[in-house]
Order: sequence, then structure tokens, then C-alpha cells
Amino acid sequence: MTDTNLPTFDGRAFINGDRVAAISGQTFDCISPVDGRVLTAVARSGEADVNAAVAAARAAFEDRRWSGMAPAARKRVMIKFADLVAAAGDELALTEALDMGKPVKYAKGVDVNAAANCIRWYGEAVDKIYDEIAPTADTALALITRQPVGVVGVIVPWNYPMIMAAWKIAPALAAGNSVVLKPSEKSPLTALRLAELALQAGIPAGVFNVVPGFGPEAGSPLALHMDVDCIAFTGSTPVGKKIHMMAGQSNLKRAWTELGGKSPNIVFADCPDLDRSVEAAVGSIFFNQGESCNAPSRLFVEESIKDAFLEKALKLVPGYQPGNPLDKNTVMGAIVDQVQLDNVMRYIGLGQSEGAKLLAGGALASPVAGGCYVQPTIFDGVKPEMTIAREEIFGPVLSVLSFSDAADVVKQANASVYGLQAAVWTRDINKAHGVARALRAGTVHVNSYDEDDITVPFGGFKQSGVGRDKSLHAFDKYTETKTTWIRI
Ligand code: NAD
Repeated sequence: MTDTNLPTFDGRAFINGDRVAAISGQTFDCISPVDGRVLTAVARSGEADVNAAVAAARAAFEDRRWSGMAPAARKRVMIKFADLVAAAGDELALTEALDMGKPVKYAKGVDVNAAANCIRWYGEAVDKIYDEIAPTADTALALITRQPVGVVGVIVPWNYPMIMAAWKIAPALAAGNSVVLKPSEKSPLTALRLAELALQAGIPAGVFNVVPGFGPEAGSPLALHMDVDCIAFTGSTPVGKKIHMMAGQSNLKRAWTELGGKSPNIVFADCPDLDRSVEAAVGSIFFNQGESCNAPSRLFVEESIKDAFLEKALKLVPGYQPGNPLDKNTVMGAIVDQVQLDNVMRYIGLGQSEGAKLLAGGALASPVAGGCYVQPTIFDGVKPEMTIAREEIFGPVLSVLSFSDAADVVKQANASVYGLQAAVWTRDINKAHGVARALRAGTVHVNSYDEDDITVPFGGFKQSGVGRDKSLHAFDKYTETKTTWIRI
């Protein structure tokens, strides 16, 4: 790709329907992990910018052009918004690939599609939800209605910038709220374009604002803001804990968190199809360079089939060697930045020094000079107490453990602070039910890993977070329940 083929990037914030520089005038470089080039200068938002965005969001909420719009009318605008996102698919996908390092084919086929679909789905849903009347005495009516919470602050990570934003802004906007979104400083560009497309679709100025910047400088003022009614966060568990504290120490805003994971993928010897289990185990850990909250990073294989399983797995690894994300055939791209690449390499070093057996990868790769790439990596002989079995690596590193029976593996799988996702592979329906029920995780797959649909809730048990994204359940986050008694 030559520079002349690149889209032009505008890194300014989006407040009250306009592109604006940070009030301080400060910017930071948006660096592509593909080859280290600077894509653009991005507004370095701070407290003053967050205040301006929240004020715009509040004013837009109070003027009721959006919050008071009939749901059927809001639906039409949301659907137009989704159509515009889909129509800008090539540009958004290229931007995401350059900004975040994911292969352009997945940026288009997965990220753009999922974001557009999510926006459309919540738009279509919003005029099909009825309120309730409580079964009270004849002398009174008690109406139970849903109302938007008001101004919703949204903070998202860098791994699926558009999807993570869409999972929150779509239900929040469809429910009639105003939003201030802070994208990750590592991948801010597509969020800014989403706000432009929302305005173009007819979402009034001020309803959807974006303040790019760093967590402590732009995220914290949003989480602490006294005029933000709800903060919806996706990111790491340590920062998620801070978000709950900031919500509590400010105005007790509703706080929803989607956090980290160390998901167990459990393969019994009686799995229905060994090849399919192997493909899912390998494909899912290396998808998005392993930078997925729900990546199956702990693979438990029953001792009796472990050798056969790993032999097949190793044959698949060459197919996941990193390539140029802009090449349409690439399936594994760049790690988001040098900091994260160093982090992944540190974990690989810890795996080796703590005694795990390196079966594949373990080294840097360089399909494009100046970029951030690592080989797909598999460790065998991982013990539950090792760092690579306990901590979220967020890179293409698979830790393989073994087990003797169902009770043993449930105990090992649940021995984690996380509880986001899990899978169990077996032909035995009783065992599948028993293990799925015993696993402490928000999502459990049986004989698959990556079933996905906007219609199902997604979120974590334990320190993987509080609340659920996706499905109609997400509206619970962005609406307040009101009881209105009417004497008759
Ligand atoms: P992170 O927690 O470092 O950052 C997430 C966001 O929070 C970013 O926008 C960042 O700028 C902001 N932030 C950082 N410090 C802050 C502070 N003090 N106050 C307010 N905001 C702050 O996470 P990350 O590295 O961007 O993303 C990776 C993490 O996200 C992983 O742990 C991953 O599992 C998790 N994740 C979870 C889900 C899920 O649905 N459960 C989905 C995707 C990613």
C-alpha cells in the first residue's frame, strides 16, 4: 500500500457535533503497529474537554430532541446510522487495520459487520419493548416504565475498537441517552468516525461525543464526573476496579464493567471430533493476535489424548504466522503497540523460566519492517501455579494443561480470578451439562468455542466484570426503572 491510498485521518475530538482540538492544544501521535508510521496527531483530551463533552451531552439530553423522540423515529435514525457504518466498511476496516494491527479481512468481515449489525439490532429492538402494569388493586394503576439514565460515559479498550464501542453506544443511544465515549489511546480513529456517521444519520449534535486521550487524563474525569449518570467500561480488571471506585466516590453513577479473562477450554477424550476441537483451540487463541478478552488461553486436554491433540495442533501453527495486516490473505496481524509486544514477550520469558515447555513460537516476527509482530506460541506442561496459567497475557500464547477427570478439571478451571468464558468438548451429554453448570463463567460453549450472536448476553462472573453487554439485557444498563402510581 502506498501512502496515497491511505484514508486521511482526523484525530480531533468530536464534541457537540463538531471536530475540535483539545482545549490545551495538546496532541499525541497515533502510531500504526503495522510499520511504525505516524497516522495522525490525536487530540489529547483532558478534564476541560471532558467537561465540555459532558455539558454538550447533558444539554442534548435535556432538550429532548433525541431522548424524547418516539422510539419508532429513533429506530429509523439508528438503522440509517448502521447503514452508513456498513457503507463506510472499506474505509473503517483499513483504518482499524492500520490503527490496531488486525488483519484487514477480519476488520471488515468481523469488526465492521458486527458493529453495524449491533447498531441496527438495537435500533430495530427499541420500538418493540413494552412497559408493564403491576397487578395492584382496582383503585390504582402502577405503571412500570423504563427511562434513559441520562448521560452515559463509555470507556473502551483497543482490541475491538468499533465492536466494543458499538456494544455500548448502540443500546445506550437507542434507549434515548446521550453518550460521551473515550476510546483507547492506542486505537482512537474509528470511534471518531462513528460519531461523524451518527451525526450524518440524524442523531442530533451533542448526543454522541468522543474525547480521545489517555486513561488517567480523559477516562478518569469521565468516571468521576458529577453529571455523568452511568459509566460503561470495557478494559482490564485493575482499571475496572478503579472505575467502580470512581463511580462510588463521585455521584454513585451506575458502573458497568466488562473486564479481563483467562478462559478455560476443556477437551475430554470423548470429544465428538478431535480435528474440530484442535482447529477451534488453535484458531480461537490466535484470532485477533490473541488480543481477545475471551480468548481460550488455558487449554485443558485430557491426558490420554494430549499427545495426539498437540501433534495436530502443531501442524496448524504455520498457518498463523503473522503477515502484513493490509494484505487480504493475512490471518494474524500486528500486536497493538510496542508496550503490548514487550508485555507478551515478558510472559513468554516467564513461561520458559518457570519451566513450561515451549512447543511453538516464542520469538518476534517481522513480516513488515518497523511493526510489532510475534510468532504464534504454544506452551505445554503448564502447571496451574505458573504465571502463564494465571495471568491474562493478551497475546497469541496458548498454555496447555492436562487433567484426569471432570471433577479435577472443573476445580482447575475455576481456580482463576476471572470467569468470562469457557468451553467443554465431550460427546457425553450428562458430562457436558454437569461441567457447563459447574464452570463459573458468563458464557460456556459445548463442542464449540466461538458461537456468537448479538441476541445473547455477554459478560463475566467474578473479576471479569459486572453486567452484560449485547442482547436485550444490555438495556438494563442504560435505563432506569420508574414506578408511577395512578389513583383511579
Ligand atoms: P485498559 O484497562 O488498560 O484500558 C481500557 C480503557 O480504559 C482505555 O480506554 C484506557 O485509556 C482507559 N483507562 C486506563 N486507565 C484509566 C483510568 N485510570 N481511568 C479511566 N480510564 C482508564 O485495557 P486495555 O489494555 O485497553 O484492554 C485490554 C483489556 O480489556 C484486557 O484485560 C481485556 O480482557 C479487556 N477486555 C474485556 C472485554 C470484555 O468484554 N470483557 C472485551 C475486550 C477487552
